[in-house]
Amino acid sequence: MSTLHNLGFPRIGADRELKKITEDFWQGKVTEQELRETSQGLRKRHWELQANAGIDLIPVGDFSNYDQVLDMSCLLGVIPERFNFKEDEVNLSTYFSLARGLNDNKQSLAACEMTKWFDTNYHYLVPEIHKEQKFKLSFNKLFDEIKEAHELGINAKAVLIGPLTWLWLAKIKGEEFDKLRLITPLIEAYKEILIRIKALGVEWVQIDEPILCLDLPIIWKSTLEYVYRKLNIPNLNILLTTYFGDLEDNLSLTCNLAVDALHIDAVRGIGQLHKVLDKLPDNKILSVGLIDGRNVWRSNLDEALKILKPVQDKLGDRLWIAPSCSLLHVPVDLSIETNLDKELKSWLSFAVQKLDELNLIGKALDEGEEVVEVSLKSSRDALNSRSVSPRIHFSNIKTRVKSIKDSMLSRNNEFKYRSEIQHKFLNLPTFPTTTIGSFPQTNEIRFVRSEYKKGNINESSYIEKMKSEISHVVKEQESLDLDVLVHGEAERNDMVEYFGELLSGFVFTQYAWVQSYGSRCVKPPIIYGDIYRPKAMTVDWTKYAQSCTDRPMKGMLTGPVTILNWSFVRDDQPRSTTAEQIALALRDEVNDLQNAGIKIIQIDEAALREGLPLRKKDWAEYLDWTVRAFRLTASVAADDTQIHTHMCYSEFNDIIEAIADMDADVITIETSRSDMELLDVFDDFNYPNDIGPGVYDIHSPNIPDTEQIVNLMNKAAERIPVERLWVNPDCGLKTRQWPEVIEALNCMVKSAKQLREQHKTVVR
Ligand code: GLN
Ligand code: ZN
Repeated sequence: MSTLHNLGFPRIGADRELKKITEDFWQGKVTEQELRETSQGLRKRHWELQANAGIDLIPVGDFSNYDQVLDMSCLLGVIPERFNFKEDEVNLSTYFSLARGLNDNKQSLAACEMTKWFDTNYHYLVPEIHKEQKFKLSFNKLFDEIKEAHELGINAKAVLIGPLTWLWLAKIKGEEFDKLRLITPLIEAYKEILIRIKALGVEWVQIDEPILCLDLPIIWKSTLEYVYRKLNIPNLNILLTTYFGDLEDNLSLTCNLAVDALHIDAVRGIGQLHKVLDKLPDNKILSVGLIDGRNVWRSNLDEALKILKPVQDKLGDRLWIAPSCSLLHVPVDLSIETNLDKELKSWLSFAVQKLDELNLIGKALDEGEEVVEVSLKSSRDALNSRSVSPRIHFSNIKTRVKSIKDSMLSRNNEFKYRSEIQHKFLNLPTFPTTTIGSFPQTNEIRFVRSEYKKGNINESSYIEKMKSEISHVVKEQESLDLDVLVHGEAERNDMVEYFGELLSGFVFTQYAWVQSYGSRCVKPPIIYGDIYRPKAMTVDWTKYAQSCTDRPMKGMLTGPVTILNWSFVRDDQPRSTTAEQIALALRDEVNDLQNAGIKIIQIDEAALREGLPLRKKDWAEYLDWTVRAFRLTASVAADDTQIHTHMCYSEFNDIIEAIADMDADVITIETSRSDMELLDVFDDFNYPNDIGPGVYDIHSPNIPDTEQIVNLMNKAAERIPVERLWVNPDCGLKTRQWPEVIEALNCMVKSAKQLREQHKTVVR
């Protein structure tokens, strides 16, 4: 009999119950008791749901009130010193202060830093460690949840983040030191955890070590070996889980770690299956993750069975089956999507459906395919209909992609030449000022958009309202004396959703939320078919905005790679092909904008960097097709159309060549928090085009002061020739309030004027 198990279940609830109650709790609308009860209710519902789906071993400890990495840090008693934690147990108020910071009249403490969990769109809270770090179990949550599960008769498999993954993700505070020097006390802490888990009568503990799918220094590899030898607790079985990729050079090491079972991701790393089978010691259990935990498509069950049958022949009971990774990264339940088209729906599978698929595979393997033939057939039919559906396959789009010529990937002339023409035409001062695109999204704007969506206001009054917002935003920018203006993006709820809704090949669900961080959930669009642009998407708004001013108006587009990386992407063609389709649609938009007289067009690629593959050796290929997609979008621009791009991050060291290769006339980036040192790489590389290093952090309500900005820009000028510098904030202003924005931009413009005085002799 093959054992079925699950690595983790989304905790937010099908109706985002956890989000709602948590936010209510923060606002003081409900008590801690009510929050605990709802959390408990969700756990119960999800455990029972998994048990009913025939899952033999059910993850416990995967639930979290904010983040599982924070939970692990609390369990280990690793609380940043500024919180002055002295108690034995982390209580809920400390827990949420760690996650969100503390700001009462007594004190103000910064929250833990947040960053992306591997290559997913989930964000975890970064553990902070210091040289003298001690560990002391300080969070009973896991143990309490195990008891809770046992009381409900659930066959619990305890879930922990592995010691080396936790340590890898931790950030050193204070004096630098070798993190691995903490390994001995860390092992002791984990041992204590395991002993307590065992004492509760648990047989299996799942320890997640996704870092095994990364490039690891040799010393980390040998430490892994050492740690798992030490973590051997009699009568407690360890399932070591790896996911998000192929083990590659860590394969042999991983197969031989002193654990009882190994889980591999056979979706991202299908190629490793036979190699693992070769290397796996005879007594070890292998868990094969064949259901995609990172995407929303129905599995190919025939294919899965074809792969698994020989594995079952070889391993017998030592074969376990599971999703590829935790289901945290997919929406909860497809069945509640009542508005989705029926055929389209039949192609999809969310967490609940994925468990049913797992169950079907298990039955087919153990009892024979005949037993589940009806279900297998309906799955097969869905897949067949998807592969040929005229609703998603358009030969003219495929032909257009095939006939992309090299000449479509380059601007007509090189930057030097273009820039001269643009300067003449635009006639901007040195240190030209601009913003990144969005202006404050007030409640009123949100209300108008949502009323329009619901059909409560008609199109023409919606357009009127948006136009009046645009003209207001333009006037404000004129009175601030900004040089290059924007229309403010009031019509956009989200920079990807807006374009997805206007492009064909995208579908939007009602409830397909996934957790982004804490109580924040996102509903990524699903790209299901060939993409085309039925009509222009931004031209009317931009034209109207331009008509309100004599200053240049910047058209605002979200780039192809960002649209791709923030969506669920079809799995029946390479991502690069989908990117090309999006790029072609956006290329047409760039062309329409310039034909409408818009001389500056910004193509945001906020998410280009975060899509970098986990393994360095795969970077070149990724950068190759992503830069190509950007160039395909931008290169239709005539010499006198100035292309901007914007990126929400600041680490360019290892990708600077690709960034330069994008050949945007102007790039605006996030730099204010790093004192412009990040520009060193642009300097060292002799980055040839214009740069707008963000001069103040828009994530905080603080108003920058003029001197600060002037200093920052002067630091920038030590690295980049003055005639190629722009002055702008770090990112869009949509989350800020108007009074802050006015004050901050006022300082920014004043600074630019001072800089012009200082650097008078320079001409653009
Ligand atoms: N143009 C977008 C804005 O200003 C860019 C946002 C982003 O980079 N995340 O909102
Ligand atoms: Zn940004």
